[in-house]
Amino acid sequence: MDGVSHVTTTPAVMILLGPPGAGKGTQARMLEEKYGLVQLSTGDLLRAAVAAGTEAGQAAKAVMEAGGLVSDDIVLAILKDRMADADTQSGVILDGFPRTTGQAEALDALLAETGQKIDAAVSLEVEDEAMVERVSGRYTCAACGEGYHDTFKKPQVAGVCDKCGGTAFKRRADDNAETVRSRLDAYHAQTAPLIGYYDARGVLRHVDAMADIGDVAEALGRIVDSVRH
Ligand code: AMP
Repeated sequence: MDGVSHVTTTPAVMILLGPPGAGKGTQARMLEEKYGLVQLSTGDLLRAAVAAGTEAGQAAKAVMEAGGLVSDDIVLAILKDRMADADTQSGVILDGFPRTTGQAEALDALLAETGQKIDAAVSLEVEDEAMVERVSGRYTCAACGEGYHDTFKKPQVAGVCDKCGGTAFKRRADDNAETVRSRLDAYHAQTAPLIGYYDARGVLRHVDAMADIGDVAEALGRIVDSVRH
């Protein structure tokens, strides 16, 4: 023995469920920094595929621009590739996946192959109308990805990223009022049923995501602490 206690930990798998603007990406990034879990966003992976012009990206582009859901086949292929990377072995926060019952079932099967399970599926609870304003005003630092908002979170020095000092910012093509409404409809029709799916499996948690970013982060931190093993 070397005198150091070795605790065997099973990697945590946590899902953030919620409509566009609920704060999934912001909170996943904060949890990544604090707990060393890896944020896995199918939206980010799809945007990278679109930018790279891959076959999947070309197939997904128009659907994403219209605010619909990309087919399960494409999303699952992209997710499986990413889950095979070594860094995800320490635990993941799934941000924007699963979004359909088919995806949830495929995730269960994928995790079963490696003896993993879902520790918590957190429903971020918000009001739809507030989401249109949240999403329409948001933008990110082009260099480090830190998120900002025209009204709710401006950089301390105008035009300069608080985190990395970058001066270029970008907005998503689908973050406009019209597309947000389509994305909200897709959420209610296809993704909200997953709340019942995870409730039935005993892993559902609820967090009031209309609260301040810091309060939501604390509530999520308590959930991570309670499921770590
Ligand atoms: P997000 O960055 O999570 O808001 O996703 C942006 C867009 O990518 C969505 O509006 C969908 O068109 C697509 N997308 C992201 N994740 C998924 C998913 N799990 N299933 C289907 N489409 C997705």
